[in-house]
Amino acid sequence: MLKKILRSESCAKCRVCCGFDDGDKWEIPLIFAEDRRAVEEKLGVKLAERGGEFVFDMEFDGDKVVYCPAAGEHGCTLGEHKPFDCLIWPFRVNSLGELRVITVSPVCGTVSELPLKTLSEFVNADGFADKLFKKAREHPDIVKPYIDGYPILAVENNPKM
Ligand code: SF4
Repeated sequence: MLKKILRSESCAKCRVCCGFDDGDKWEIPLIFAEDRRAVEEKLGVKLAERGGEFVFDMEFDGDKVVYCPAAGEHGCTLGEHKPFDCLIWPFRVNSLGELRVITVSPVCGTVSELPLKTLSEFVNADGFADKLFKKAREHPDIVKPYIDGYPILAVENNPKM
């Protein structure tokens, strides 16, 4: 989904978005109910329910980074069942007051090196922003609160569509 700006080889080498600690465990990807069985069978894990959808049941120890159970040596092992959160990361749908916005996380070094103009053009081209907002309406739990300082690249125009 992000091939134009982020090569899969870069992700496989980095994996920063696949490790979590106690402070960012809210970033653990949401696994949609329709993918639950396939993910559980592939990884031999039991997912934890969160608001009708699912997340990996991971234990944290302060600042120690714990890798997602789906993270392999060369990247994500979930293939077609890779969570939507991960397909679009480092972009995020955030709530900001009454608004929903698309932001970019500065944690991804590769994408953060690109000019904001390039990122804004990417997000607003080819229906990418609309796709994210539509998915957020279908699965509201992928919407996370806005974090101060994260660049805003798009604002939802037609929340009812
Ligand atoms: S599901 Fe895959 S891409 Fe997402 S955090 Fe886990 S290993 Fe990384």
